[in-house]
Amino acid sequence: MAEQMNAFQIAQSQFDKVAGMLNLDPGVREVLRWPAREFTFRIPVRMDNGSLQVFQGFRVQHNDARGPNKGGIRFHPEETIDTVRALSMWMTWKCAAVDIPLGGGKGGIIVDPSKLSSNEKEHLCRGWVQQMIKNLGPRQDIPAPDVGTTPQMMGWMMDEYSKLSGTYAPSVFTGKPVGGGGSLGRTEATGFGAIYNIREAMKYLNIDPKNSVAAIQGFGNVGQYAAIGFVEILGGKVACVSCWDRNDKKSYTYSHKEGVDARFLLSITDQYGTIDKQKAMEGGYIVEDGSAWISKEANILIPAAMENQLTTETVKEMSDQVKVVAEGANGPTTLEADEYFKSKNIFIIPDFLCNAGGVTTSYFEGVQNDMNFYWSKEEVLERLDAKITHSFKDILQMAEKENAYMRDAAYMVSIQRVVDAMKMRGWLHGDW
Ligand code: NAD
Repeated sequence: MAEQMNAFQIAQSQFDKVAGMLNLDPGVREVLRWPAREFTFRIPVRMDNGSLQVFQGFRVQHNDARGPNKGGIRFHPEETIDTVRALSMWMTWKCAAVDIPLGGGKGGIIVDPSKLSSNEKEHLCRGWVQQMIKNLGPRQDIPAPDVGTTPQMMGWMMDEYSKLSGTYAPSVFTGKPVGGGGSLGRTEATGFGAIYNIREAMKYLNIDPKNSVAAIQGFGNVGQYAAIGFVEILGGKVACVSCWDRNDKKSYTYSHKEGVDARFLLSITDQYGTIDKQKAMEGGYIVEDGSAWISKEANILIPAAMENQLTTETVKEMSDQVKVVAEGANGPTTLEADEYFKSKNIFIIPDFLCNAGGVTTSYFEGVQNDMNFYWSKEEVLERLDAKITHSFKDILQMAEKENAYMRDAAYMVSIQRVVDAMKMRGWLHGDW
């Protein structure tokens, strides 16, 4: 049963399916089914209480045929090598989908960062770089923040790399703080990237954005700017947003009879994406169970919280009006739920296209670092819109040409680009 598969098994089976559709040579499939390189290492940290604690670290470099490996570092207590492998493979496809000259990578440390002091976190970050120094670099592997890691941590990591390599190298890490080499527009990038995709999907499907209603799961970085963009860029209405409440240890759905005012909700949301329930109720918001988001009367669903949220069980609750599912989160749809969407002719904007605004702006950050010349926020967002719009059209064209589902079309475009790069570099030996 695919709903029981781990993330890497899912990533491999998605790849296998499209490799079959592309009729890829068995040897080429074997190259891409697995990461090119994997690093596992131990990081000793002197804790504030004087004890020495050792943490398990990872970095997986899936493929760098199109450019240096790119992908975040996660600090998570349940991190596993298979999760990191899957995420590194998805990064390869994501960078290729938006045609930026980067490959795929991902890293992590098994740790709960909320249990560490700032000093301990800094030592852990510097320790990760010390273990990886020979295999990192603006032309080798460029990490970024992810679950449990922050711009400040990228600042420490970039500093450690620069010290050890003896040269200031800001473009070795992206997602740095603005003023410390970070790019303007990065905060909005993933949510707005999803909105640019939704705008293009609406044009294709003849949906009027001004008469559209979105239901959003998650109100963190992606959900917040998807909600703001849905109203301010598209002119639509947001029926609800949901979030995990860290205090009550359960999720809630917030709706308002006139539609959600995302900027008001943002003003009462903490840095972890938990909305202040009391203040929301005082502001006239209706608070329901976290599962209620999916059954709201909406024509656009934006899962922007976490993986495996759209399952055979939860999609039964979906309104008949839903025409588009825009995957802001990574892997929100199980393989079975995907089959259901296909059977219902629901238009999917697959995760690695829908949320690629983040990595695209990370790429822009590296470009600005290397030029030592920084763009305005408007310029960053304008370039992002152009890149996302172009990528959406490439994938839609493939879907139409091959009569393929959008997710399969996105995989086909990405895998083909990676295979072409490997051929051009002679990695696959012989004439092709
Ligand atoms: P975040 O930590 O800022 O926010 C996550 C949000 O989801 C929070 O509001 C949290 O309360 C909510 N949430 C968690 N569990 C929930 C549940 N069971 N029900 C309802 N809400 C729940 O994270 P983010 O950066 O917004 O990322 C969200 C997703 O998007 C993740 O899958 C992430 O991998 C993906 N993503 C993020 C970026 C980015 O640039 N931030 C880029 C690409 C992909």
